[in-house]
Amino acid sequence: AYADGNRKMGGRKKTMSNQSNGVSSGRFANRVILVTGAASGIGRACAVRLAREGANIVALDLDADGLASLAAEIESVGGGCETLCGNVTELERIDAAVTCATTRFGRLDGLINNAGIGGPMERFDRCSPDDFDRMIAVNLRSAWYGTKVARKPLLAGGGGAILNVASMAGLVPNRNHSLYGMTKAAVISLTYHAAMDYAADGIRVNCLCPGPVETPIFEQMRRNLGEDVYDGARRQLMRRTLLGRFGDADEQAAAAAFLLSDDASFVTGIALPVDGGWSISDGQTP
Ligand code: NAD
Repeated sequence: AYADGNRKMGGRKKTMSNQSNGVSSGRFANRVILVTGAASGIGRACAVRLAREGANIVALDLDADGLASLAAEIESVGGGCETLCGNVTELERIDAAVTCATTRFGRLDGLINNAGIGGPMERFDRCSPDDFDRMIAVNLRSAWYGTKVARKPLLAGGGGAILNVASMAGLVPNRNHSLYGMTKAAVISLTYHAAMDYAADGIRVNCLCPGPVETPIFEQMRRNLGEDVYDGARRQLMRRTLLGRFGDADEQAAAAAFLLSDDASFVTGIALPVDGGWSISDGQTP
């Protein structure tokens, strides 16, 4: 049986508030969203965007300094923010973050499983079993944990929305990115299966497949490859992107906000590329 027809984020029509800070339309007024990997890059942009639109944020990350500056930024736009320093590979930390949402703000309305790491950037046969385990734990098991643990509090509030941050590399193979691509393809599959199982609960589950966004995740690539090779790889990525440029974290946040909001009340089980056309490119310069 489906949860009641008045589901917020899981199906209810949007309610607008008068809030007007920054880009705010108040789509998330009185709502509570948990964002993992929120201290930096795409996760941070999502947390700030949602807060500007009225949400209270619970942020989980390994980076204590990044969390402190995120909390200050969110407070400066008038939002509430609770931070937890911890590793998304540990089920107890995800549990603690969900509990924090309900104890501090009284509810949970949405979750972004965003925390992730880049892979070893090696040929398939050069990746080690340790690389494999690490990539699975951070990029996949964390999203699986979050999606499991969030169901109860989302259901208690009448439904909600989950957004997984996968990658264009989960849609299309990308040379020397096998482990990364495999984990992100699995996150897309996780999304489809959770969307099926949670639909009757009024919980929508979607995923975002970002194209290249020059966040600190690219620093790892720069270190691994060295400056010259990195520059070549960067140019190649840019050439393959139909719009001819890297994306911006705010462009990912705009799509994330749509998918979490009631504007997407009839959208579940999709993998949305926000990649400047990278995933359909033939590699020719437009
Ligand atoms: P980022 O490095 O800027 O941010 C990732 C955040 O996750 C960091 O704050 C980091 O501390 C946190 N984190 C990493 N491992 C963690 C762990 N075990 N426990 C808790 N927190 C952890 O990277 P980003 O580019 O913003 O990436 C965010 C997500 O977007 C990732 O899932 C990434 O795979 C995905 N993505 C990024 C791009 C891109 O081009 N930047 C493209 C496609 C997908």
